[in-house]
Amino acid sequence: MIVCKFGGSSVADAKQIKKVKAIVEADPKRQIVIVSAPGKRDKDDEKVTDMLYACNALAQQGLTCKPVFKKIADRYTSILEGLGIEKKPFVAVLEEVRQMIDAGHGAEYAASRGEYLSARMIAAYLGWDFLDADPYIVINPDGTVHEQSYENLRKVLKKDRKYIVPGFYGCDIEGKVKTFSRGGSDITGAILSSAADAESYENWTDVSGVYSVDPRLVDDAKVIKTMTYRELRELAGVGANVFHEEAIAPVIAAQIPINVKNTNAPADMGTMIVNERTSETTPLAGVSAKKGYSRITLRKLMLFKQSGTRHALLTMLHVFGIRPSFSLFGVDSIVWFFETSQASESVLKAMCTRLASEFSLDAIEVDHNHAIVGVVGEGVMDHRDLIAKVVGALDRESISLNFLNFGASETSLLLGVHADKTQDAVIALYNALF
Ligand code: ASP
Repeated sequence: MIVCKFGGSSVADAKQIKKVKAIVEADPKRQIVIVSAPGKRDKDDEKVTDMLYACNALAQQGLTCKPVFKKIADRYTSILEGLGIEKKPFVAVLEEVRQMIDAGHGAEYAASRGEYLSARMIAAYLGWDFLDADPYIVINPDGTVHEQSYENLRKVLKKDRKYIVPGFYGCDIEGKVKTFSRGGSDITGAILSSAADAESYENWTDVSGVYSVDPRLVDDAKVIKTMTYRELRELAGVGANVFHEEAIAPVIAAQIPINVKNTNAPADMGTMIVNERTSETTPLAGVSAKKGYSRITLRKLMLFKQSGTRHALLTMLHVFGIRPSFSLFGVDSIVWFFETSQASESVLKAMCTRLASEFSLDAIEVDHNHAIVGVVGEGVMDHRDLIAKVVGALDRESISLNFLNFGASETSLLLGVHADKTQDAVIALYNALF
């Protein structure tokens, strides 16, 4: 049994949904299909989910969402017409959704309706069962999946049926509609794959797999044929953006392979994401980078003399809303990198004053415009020449390194560069290493 998830671009209009039908009907093993809300048809188009958030914003100001909702309703009706589905029952459902948003049911309810309507419509088109997500998928307050969800789904799924399931939402422990973070239909697909014990989880999108480098930067960017769950996590951690980074968790324990495939080119093999791969011939999977980091540096003679100092410093950072992403420790110093968006200048100033006085620091400094570049691959630790190549490639382009972190994960080499040099660094490293 195969679970398929189709993203927003795969269900953006009737033409795309016809491709979905051809794909799922080509293999009888494709029995559970998760769908997103209609995404962009071209680069200037709007995503239905974004419009639903806009509807909710109007409702929260006490205004009616009618003008924005009209665009959503038109979008669905044009899809219904294109697919030749009877419009009348859907028009009533659309009106009901509009009234609920206007009645103030909130952002999560509003946003979830994109997937809900999409799934109902596609179920009608394919003649499959519509299985709503919200009584079964339970989402914890921190956004993680409640264990009970798997049992709930196992009880309801029948082996000889075919299901269309809306992605992106479930319910909270009280049964109220709750969404995952943006792009969360990937997580729904992973949950269903695990609950149904699928032999594979096909993630259908508009590119032919995960690229080893951002194809907007490098013309001959290649699709990665096989990569591990760890490599995907590491690449996502440094900004690569194809598959939701939290969607690995439900499939990793059951070791269900994920196949990222292209709805517009279904014959392409795509990328297989598996538990293990041999790294001898292809030590590296990809290179990616993420901007928007700031750095805090603390110095004090004998800083770590007292036990618990690191912990106390981190607790203080947390009080000011800072959760560092990367750290470096020296004999008498600590450096933390954190996402700049986590705190304003005034919050940072207050935090530095407090840290300096409570810990009697010799120096404390915050600076911005950092980027983290990651060279990711299962073989990163085994190829000693790699570091030389990395440093050489950056040196040739006169790119200075702020730090080099080799070994923490054993699957990635992390480098700190100035944000202005992010793209140059990625291109230089790709050309030198791949
Ligand atoms: N429709 C949601 C979003 O735009 C979820 C998804 O597409 O996975 O984020």
